[in-house]
Amino acid sequence: MKKPIKLISLFTIILILISIIGAGELHAQVKKGMYDKMKGGGIPDTQLSQKDNNYLDRQAAVFLDSVQSIISKFPPQIKEARERGMAKLLMDAVFHEHFAAFRKPAQQFFHFQANNVITELENTKVTKGAKIWKIYNMGFIVKTKTVTMAFDLVTGETSGSDDFKLNQKEIERLVAQCDVLFISHWHPDHADPRIAQEFLDLGRAVIAPDQVWKGKPIHSEILHMERIAHKTQKLQLQDHVLEVVVNPGHQMKSHINNVVLVTTPEGITIAHTGDQINEGDFMIDFEWIDEVYKHNKVDIMMPNAWTMDIFRQVKGFKPKLVMPGHELELGHTVWDRLPYWGDDKYLELNYAELKASKYPVIALIWGESYHYIP
Ligand SMILES: [Zn+2]
Ligand SMILES: [Zn+2]
Repeated sequence: MKKPIKLISLFTIILILISIIGAGELHAQVKKGMYDKMKGGGIPDTQLSQKDNNYLDRQAAVFLDSVQSIISKFPPQIKEARERGMAKLLMDAVFHEHFAAFRKPAQQFFHFQANNVITELENTKVTKGAKIWKIYNMGFIVKTKTVTMAFDLVTGETSGSDDFKLNQKEIERLVAQCDVLFISHWHPDHADPRIAQEFLDLGRAVIAPDQVWKGKPIHSEILHMERIAHKTQKLQLQDHVLEVVVNPGHQMKSHINNVVLVTTPEGITIAHTGDQINEGDFMIDFEWIDEVYKHNKVDIMMPNAWTMDIFRQVKGFKPKLVMPGHELELGHTVWDRLPYWGDDKYLELNYAELKASKYPVIALIWGESYHYIP
């Protein structure tokens, strides 16, 4: 009866082998999941458990509370306090998470900051210079004694979260404070039809390139000023006349991008570059960019901080003050949301070089303002 014995021992060996492999697998499972028994299915990040999501919510709340407490003690100024850099790192940390805009503390922070701007706009009389608020992305509002101008003002709709973006009441109060809206190009992180419509409903001018909402009814209500480098045009508003240069910029070849220089009745000139970028063999815009300073004295320049050669742009404008924008645009995927810390390796930027140069740079956090006096 040798055969059956052989069979039994073979069977036993297989059983032992299976149990060894099985135990190994189990061991690996235990090791991997020892501290992580909860599986996914949480909100807003379904790849994480609810407990993990709750932790990220609490962390966002603590980080953003710290941001608010730091920036209340250290307001924006030329030669920034070190603490402000820390606040910006905390912003970067919270908003470099795919679901950031869907987290309650992030939403509350954004609305709180936006409401600060609204209240300040309603209650601030500017007698000298210009006060500049950053709302979100490249959205700035500039107020002087006579006029209040909005540039690329958006609701935050691109974040994908209805609870994050500005609500109707906030839009109405914000737009009610502004005389004119300049839109650089059609991308939804710069052109927001709800904001533009609100301006138009109040009989206020909206200036944009022809590409913006082409074929939609709103297109015919928008002013399409001539895109000619260095040419000053008069823009009649309800109560004032502005001098406007619409430099014929681009975001790469295909997207028409207005780079406006607006001079207020007080003689303060603001430049906003939208998503200006030339790349590769398409570099035509540097012909006029390099010479802006020869035609206009620029007080404040607002460039998109992610553009490739930001330093060359600034050298062409020679502004008294640089106030970059486009940090943390939540419509972009995580790696593509320019952080406050710069990330110059991305796109081979020279933002750090600019910040180390003789040009004063102030990067505002959403809801912050700076009072510029020439
Ligand atoms: Zn764009
Ligand atoms: Zn953009």
